[in-house]
Amino acid sequence: MMLEIVKYGHPALRKKGESIAALTPEIKNLIVDMFETMAENHGVGLAAQQVGVAKQLAVIDVRDMTDRPSTLELDGQPADPATIMPLVLINPEITPVSEPVTGPEGCLSFPEIFADISRPGMVDVKALDGKGKPIAFRCGGLLARAIQHEKDHLNGVLFIDRMDKKTKAALQPELDALHAITKAELSQKK
Ligand code: ZN
Repeated sequence: MMLEIVKYGHPALRKKGESIAALTPEIKNLIVDMFETMAENHGVGLAAQQVGVAKQLAVIDVRDMTDRPSTLELDGQPADPATIMPLVLINPEITPVSEPVTGPEGCLSFPEIFADISRPGMVDVKALDGKGKPIAFRCGGLLARAIQHEKDHLNGVLFIDRMDKKTKAALQPELDALHAITKAELSQKK
């Protein structure tokens, strides 16, 4: 089932997600719906907050992004990132293992707004997968960027919080307009 993606200005985006204690049928359905919603919107990542659910859950799939490569290491050995796609991350923990690199980012909660963001180029990731099984890997490139972007969502942090001042100032009119539209839509629903 397609879910509504909430936009900047919606309070759900600022909520820290609760840790998931058990893979209930409700969570399993949410995962299926989040993948469907992400694919329909041509995203590479989607956090539960973006569909209005404040839980430590994100879905990722970078396979279509052939122009922006990803790297993966499993047990210290290089591996094809496709082997872990589509990727479910439950209660993820991330440790940066390299210097920051700058690259372009967008967000389904900020339609048509893009900016360069600096983030560690490579990270170690530990999480539970969609079956509740522990997974651990090291990744770089787009996958590392996407995972860090989604992990931020799970903490109520948005990519505008990571923009440098000049970039954010240039986008401020668009951000204010989006925020106002979202607030107006929310007040109509009440
Ligand atoms: Zn996002």
